[in-house]
Amino acid sequence: MNCVCCGQEMIDDFTTFNVIKGGAVYITEDVPCWRCPVCEHVTFTQDVAKQLEKYSSGRSLPGKSYKAWVYKWGDPIIEIPLIASPSSSQDIIFAHTQNESKDEPIVIKM
Ligand SMILES: [Zn+2]
Repeated sequence: MNCVCCGQEMIDDFTTFNVIKGGAVYITEDVPCWRCPVCEHVTFTQDVAKQLEKYSSGRSLPGKSYKAWVYKWGDPIIEIPLIASPSSSQDIIFAHTQNESKDEPIVIKM
């Protein structure tokens, strides 16, 4: 398959597909795609596109639960202070448990 943008032969690859529809954010990871090695244009087969439509229809749920952090550029944000890790000087980030009732952050060492 050749790139519709620059004509280069496209390669088999995987991508993350993000779309905002009806006020909801849909993110699909590890999506098989064709990628242009020159201009990075990505295209999907019809079967993959159909499945992506299903994933972003709002009528299906993922098997695992994720939280998405959605920002609008320029909007005010609330900064969360970093808690120093006593055992290491490595960077830490916060993630929330998948249990919605407990909103305690868990610390992931990077
Ligand atoms: Zn291209």
